Amino acid sequence: MADPIYKRVIVKLSGEALSADKGFGIDQGVVERIAADLAATAKMGVELGVVVGGGNIFRGVEVSNRGVPRPVGDTMGMLATVMNCLVLEAAVERAGVEARTLSALTMTTVCETYNRKRAMKNLAKGRVVLLAAGTGNPFFTTDTTAVLRAAELDCQAVLKATNVDGVYTADPKKDPSAKRYERVSHQEALEKDLKVMDGAAFALARENRLPIIVFSMAGKGAVEAVLRGEGRSTLVG
Ligand code: UDP
Repeated sequence: MADPIYKRVIVKLSGEALSADKGFGIDQGVVERIAADLAATAKMGVELGVVVGGGNIFRGVEVSNRGVPRPVGDTMGMLATVMNCLVLEAAVERAGVEARTLSALTMTTVCETYNRKRAMKNLAKGRVVLLAAGTGNPFFTTDTTAVLRAAELDCQAVLKATNVDGVYTADPKKDPSAKRYERVSHQEALEKDLKVMDGAAFALARENRLPIIVFSMAGKGAVEAVLRGEGRSTLVG
């Protein structure tokens, strides 16, 4: 089997990735499948930080037009990411690899608080590190968190899991002639306005020359396949 193409990466999972087809809540079967994939990848010797979104439970903008201040809504969104991380942490451990949730919001009775050194130590020990509560600040996204943590933790790439197998010239669900890019530079992605990540996340990746690999989480062992250089994806960078 091919050796891993990177030694340390951040995997970004959207909250919806945990909810199967329903788009809401947590599907335990899906969680087990993702955890098995993460555990198998860690067993290959890849150090894994995992940023999980919260969109399957709550997004701050949903309440901002209902009289709830946006920062409060965003805090609720960040708390949703903690729930997703905790369920994944337990499942990764059941799959035979140690895991730690580190939260950007302090909640000492639930999990440890994120700090860079603590995260680095856990990664070096081969633990899967679940990075919860986004950046800890409102008005940001977990895509931005993924890039920020990748830069902070000396990761070689961000693996962005989506429901399509890469970045296309047009929306492949609407335009059958859309073509998938094998590789595209940050500059080209910007010029062509390819929606890889939100603006803040993408700007940070570009500035730090961080490669982003966009791939589909649909199949079994998707993360492991990307790290073995197999399967379909787009490398942005
Ligand atoms: N969020 C935030 N700051 C962050 C990351 C997330 O305020 O640094 C909030 C925000 O309300 C966001 C929600 O948490 O809508 C869930 O994150 P996101 O929308 O990125 O999740 P995903 O779409 O990936 O499931």
